[in-house]
Amino acid sequence: MIAKNLQHLNETISAVARQCGRKREEIQVVAVSKRFSAEAIEAACNAGQIHFGENYVQELAIKAPLSPQGARFHFIGHLQSNKAKTVVELCDVVESVDREKLGRILNKHCLALDKTLDVLVQVNIGADPNKSGIKKEEAANLITTLNELSHIRVQGLMTIPPIHQSAEQNRAHFRELRRLRDALAEKGLFRDTDRPELSMGMSGDFQLAIEEGATIIRVGTAIFGPRPL
Ligand SMILES: *Cc1c(COP(=O)(O)O)cnc(C)c1O
Repeated sequence: MIAKNLQHLNETISAVARQCGRKREEIQVVAVSKRFSAEAIEAACNAGQIHFGENYVQELAIKAPLSPQGARFHFIGHLQSNKAKTVVELCDVVESVDREKLGRILNKHCLALDKTLDVLVQVNIGADPNKSGIKKEEAANLITTLNELSHIRVQGLMTIPPIHQSAEQNRAHFRELRRLRDALAEKGLFRDTDRPELSMGMSGDFQLAIEEGATIIRVGTAIFGPRPL
């Protein structure tokens, strides 16, 4: 099932990329494995999937050691500072950096482990009171501060648009994130990359996100099926 879903997903991504004149290689899939087992991660790895997204530190700490060596984890959930150490130990990317303090603590743990961490800045693009992420007006300041940290590399932006929106409203949010990224890039704020990432789009709207320039899509149910409660 998982292998088949992944194949179907990859075919869809290729088709959408072709239709909007983008290269397939520009788009990375993060398979969101929250609440699915390490066996599900293994099945996806066997089908060629490398990147996995987890939202909960406790779950990550249990599953990462049981997962195949080749699996790479992105932390995509709200991260409390007191759990940052585990995430630094187990993840290659933290997509949900939304405050200076978290950046400093991640950097401190990276220093201790002699590790460099890729991070994305999470932007609350729809200004949804239920979502974490900084306001878009605050992105430049936060990135400027993170740029001073020796073991953190800011690779781009991530967003979760408000739920219960129409496809076209989602498209508008994705477009807004892309514009923000382009404006920040124009100011030279992405010092560590020539191609800053845009992590946006999930199972229900990744096609739109790709059309609007997503370079990372975070897809769960379309790969693993309905999520267990
Ligand atoms: C759960 C989750 C996803 C994946 O959602 P699906 O609808 O299952 O594809 C993507 N991003 C974040 C931050 C999530 O929490």
